[in-house]
Amino acid sequence: MEDLPLRDDLRGSEPYGAPQLPDGIQLNVNENSFGVPIEVQNEISQEITKTLASLHRYPDREFLKLREMLAGYVPGDVSKEQVWAANGSNEVLQQFHQAFGGPGRLVLSFGPTYSMYPVIAKSTLTEYLELPRQEGYELSAEYVSSAIEKHKPDIVILCNPNNPTGTSIGQEVVKAAYESTDGMVLVDEAYAEFSAEPSAISMLENRPRLVISRTMSKAFAFAGVRLGYMVSDPAVVDAMRLVRLPYHLSALTQAASIAAIRNSDLMLSNVKEISRERERVALGLISLGLKVLPSESNFLLVEGFADPRAVFDYLLKNGLIIRKTTIAGALRITIGTPAENDKLLELMPKALQSLD
Ligand SMILES: *Cc1c(COP(=O)(O)O)cnc(C)c1O
Repeated sequence: MEDLPLRDDLRGSEPYGAPQLPDGIQLNVNENSFGVPIEVQNEISQEITKTLASLHRYPDREFLKLREMLAGYVPGDVSKEQVWAANGSNEVLQQFHQAFGGPGRLVLSFGPTYSMYPVIAKSTLTEYLELPRQEGYELSAEYVSSAIEKHKPDIVILCNPNNPTGTSIGQEVVKAAYESTDGMVLVDEAYAEFSAEPSAISMLENRPRLVISRTMSKAFAFAGVRLGYMVSDPAVVDAMRLVRLPYHLSALTQAASIAAIRNSDLMLSNVKEISRERERVALGLISLGLKVLPSESNFLLVEGFADPRAVFDYLLKNGLIIRKTTIAGALRITIGTPAENDKLLELMPKALQSLD
């Protein structure tokens, strides 16, 4: 690659690359380990079968049926004109930056936060600024407002609940951010279904620069399909149309997603159990002397490791993968099925002992 006439700003960069362990216990990328219920698998196959005879045609470019289904699924009174979707919320974020970021523009976020934000900013030539969160990785309305007034970003990203800390912000923070800028405010609610906090979707009225991005990759157990979406004022959706590639959502993706959303109750049936398991795993880890942050998502940020890398390696050698973080002494652990969590709780004391 070094020999290629690559863009100067991409020289020396590394691709996003969470390690994968397809045959092991995967508690590293916040998927829903319970998988798609078999009844829904059957419906998805029927819905996909219906598309086969017309696969020689381009799909519905505006994916109206899917947008209508998503509008019905999200909380509140939302119309299909307010919904947009793409191949994962990562693509939603990228299109959003293509439309509202770009050269000479600044995106502000509060870290530690989702590691893809700087990557997307970079590939869209948007300047990226990540300010530190406050004590306990919290964010107050005053802190966010003064940061925005000082740096005057064109885009503010608030991840709620935040990855990798699991912490939530209240609506007053979103409100304060919105009132402090003439730019766009994006709330990334990838983990919303796990949170007791109300969605910022309820704040959309009279806030045409507010955007909520969501995904079917996490609670919905649909990471393999790649379906993310956003809810906003219809004008923001029109802006996304300017930058999307034509027919970006395949007919197969649309069909599978429609069948899944039609069965959202079944798809989300494990969310409560995952939250209960989260508390069980947290207690187990605390009893080992580790510090576990309160979480409103399907993962835990665990601090207090003398050597997180060695713990990560020990677990990996034993067929279980978790996630390293940029936070000193910390690892991020996705909540899996009860059996997977048992395995984690069985291996963790051994991993800690192996360091002594
Ligand atoms: C996992 C995650 C996403 C989702 O990405 P997809 O492209 O929809 O799979 C978005 N934002 C955050 C904060 C995440 O953790």
